[in-house]
Amino acid sequence: MAAAIEVRDLEKEYPQGTRALRGVSFEVERGELFGLVGPDGAGKTTLLRILAGLLTPSRGSVRVDGIDVVQDAAAVKERIGYMSQRFSLCETLTVLENLLYASEIWHLRPQQRRERIAQLLRFSRLAPFQNRLTRNLSGGMKQKLALSVALVHHPRILLLDEPTIGVDPLSRRDFWLILYELLREGSTIFLSTPYMDEAERCSRVAFLLDGRLIAVGSPAELRKSLPVVVLDLHCADARLARTRLSQLSRFAHLAPFGEHLHVTIPREGVDPKEWVEAAQAAGVGVRSWRVSEPSLEDVFLFLAANRAREQAGLPGAPSAPPTLG
Ligand code: ADP
Repeated sequence: MAAAIEVRDLEKEYPQGTRALRGVSFEVERGELFGLVGPDGAGKTTLLRILAGLLTPSRGSVRVDGIDVVQDAAAVKERIGYMSQRFSLCETLTVLENLLYASEIWHLRPQQRRERIAQLLRFSRLAPFQNRLTRNLSGGMKQKLALSVALVHHPRILLLDEPTIGVDPLSRRDFWLILYELLREGSTIFLSTPYMDEAERCSRVAFLLDGRLIAVGSPAELRKSLPVVVLDLHCADARLARTRLSQLSRFAHLAPFGEHLHVTIPREGVDPKEWVEAAQAAGVGVRSWRVSEPSLEDVFLFLAANRAREQAGLPGAPSAPPTLG
């Protein structure tokens, strides 16, 4: 069976000249929860809109459920549930009316329609609010309604564009429970998110930066792929520590996390204790320290910094122990 999503050498250039996607290639297997992660402007919405058949690529090929999106967008639309950031809901209709409207668009027969809507209202826990006007719903409820609307026609592949943006933490958790339920039922979920904690929950993740994929893999693979581990320093004064360490070239990648400072150090061939001693010698008050695998955020920061160095014509971050700065 074909992969759920297959993207090859995808390029998108907007008429004004912005190159939103540059040579993007990846595959999503059936049943995966695949996360597209990147900062604002990275190209996430552009990619999702192309996958949904709403935007034409400039070059490259895109197949969803084995179908070429450019040649047969209509057939693709029947197979996917697409949830845009704007939630495509009619604010002046009630919850139930929005679902009825979607079921009419998909030409569900009356019997099917009743069953499916009842099922979705149960599933999204929106049944008690079915007669409420959409404009009076909370952000979390609107989000669940938008997902339900995207599911009316039983799609097996879901494309969700930053579905949890602007939603409170409890509703976010609720929404994720619904996504897990959909996965158990056999759906494939492709979602974009700017949140690393959400990326950690995905079976595989793709990092997008300036329209380029800079890494694809499971969270564990991405962590292991780095030639570095994280030295987690608990500092008396993290800001001062950062200033001091940034003056030493061996502490090239610094990321503050509250009172902690994460410093990437080579995975192989170095003694972390020696690095802590170097930090102490630089005037950093280290209260305690430990070595850990990088988080996905660390991985992203590392790869993004490497990319910036390359673009500036500097060598990438050292994978071997560097000399003391
Ligand atoms: P993301 O979803 O990651 O924030 P987008 O796909 O929205 O990124 O945008 C990627 C780049 O393409 C940005 O530089 C953005 O300004 C540009 N862009 C997005 N939509 C359009 C458009 N319709 N016309 C021109 N440029 C666009």
